[in-house]
Amino acid sequence: MTRDRTHRDSGYIRDRAKTVFGVGSTIGILGGGQLGRMMAIEARKMGYRIVVLDPSSRCPTAQVSDGFVVGALDDVAAATHLARQVDVITLDTEHVPAEVLEEIAKIAPVRPGADVLRTIQDRLVQKQFLDRIGMPQANWAQVDGPSDLEAALAKVGRPAILKVRRAGYDGKGQARIEPDGDASISLARLRPKAAASTDGFTPTTGNEPCVIEEVVSFTREISVVLARSLEGQTAIYPIAENVHRRHILHTTRAPAPVTPDLAARATEIACKVAEALGHVGVIAVEMFELADGRLLVNEIAPRTHNSGHYTFGACSTSQFEQHVRAICGLPLGDPRALSGAVMVNLIGDLWAAGPPAWEHVLARPEARLHLYGKDAPAPGRKMGHVVLLDDDTERGLVTAEALIGALTPRS
Ligand code: ADP
Ligand code: MG
Repeated sequence: MTRDRTHRDSGYIRDRAKTVFGVGSTIGILGGGQLGRMMAIEARKMGYRIVVLDPSSRCPTAQVSDGFVVGALDDVAAATHLARQVDVITLDTEHVPAEVLEEIAKIAPVRPGADVLRTIQDRLVQKQFLDRIGMPQANWAQVDGPSDLEAALAKVGRPAILKVRRAGYDGKGQARIEPDGDASISLARLRPKAAASTDGFTPTTGNEPCVIEEVVSFTREISVVLARSLEGQTAIYPIAENVHRRHILHTTRAPAPVTPDLAARATEIACKVAEALGHVGVIAVEMFELADGRLLVNEIAPRTHNSGHYTFGACSTSQFEQHVRAICGLPLGDPRALSGAVMVNLIGDLWAAGPPAWEHVLARPEARLHLYGKDAPAPGRKMGHVVLLDDDTERGLVTAEALIGALTPRS
């Protein structure tokens, strides 16, 4: 079997948790989105094989993989089928149930492991973890049902943001409660997965368990993307500055213009989080910067991150290659930025009047176009991104807006 061969060939083996999987090994990815796709591209560049599990054989990762298993991400039998074909398993999304990961870890190592995912994938457990390790956060409260709302709002104040505990992303499963808004109506309506039928999870019925947070009037959003190896070494990317629109990442610029003090504090927070989790692989920590200079942790993503997409092209080692190195036990690569960069997301709305005119992007020497191979451009759906290599990131942001304007169909 492939795994036996790889174990024998992979040089030193101390214990299973530290097993190194050398070039030629097979990596299993749970979830076939764009993160898995870019990871697969980088992994294959280094001679690895990829098998992906996803409900759709047309998913972005399957298009660039060696093998494919059809199945929902909470389907233990399908995940077991994948595990039997691979040497090491990793994730494209944090929303694979920890119980599934525990089960398949009996067959092949899962990196990051079920414990990390259990802490992150429930926003309540994540917030409790951050409190426990002393990380600063916005005021928050637990909302198990309508009867908790009044006390929770009294604690965090208005306006506030309700977030479903599980399976939210890109602002899905979130509702803002205005000063005069009816929180119980918002709670009843919240659904974690608008696209439940296409992403392999069972749709939910509303009145989901939630957390509620104060609305933070931040001056800026930043993120720290880093990789942590099996041995606990870290490789840290430059600080990224992020702008969201309608709760979806719009642009990232990196390196962000930050003082050395802010960079040091942000990096320290991200390293503490990764260390306390015992994480292996790439991890991103999103933060709010306040007017008085304080940083609050917004959320943790235990995987490659949209705000790290610029590294694919702008850094010596992309976050995707870095993740492969970390989970396979290879030495981490150099995270240094070779150029300043601005990343702008291409959201499905751009396709409203047909495919965008890509020549506007392709004609620019500093622009790199990434499209994810998704065949259904829906509003709010991430279809691709452009990276602009420009040491003047202020100018890069202006170029990004001009490009989006040029690509937006006019009716
Ligand atoms: P996800 O990225 O999983 O959809 P987030 O919690 O990161 O969820 O929310 C998405 C974006 O919504 C954030 O990056 C930020 O722009 C905004 N947001 C979320 N929570 C708050 C908050 N408490 N105060 C202000 N803005 C927030
Ligand atoms: Mg986020």
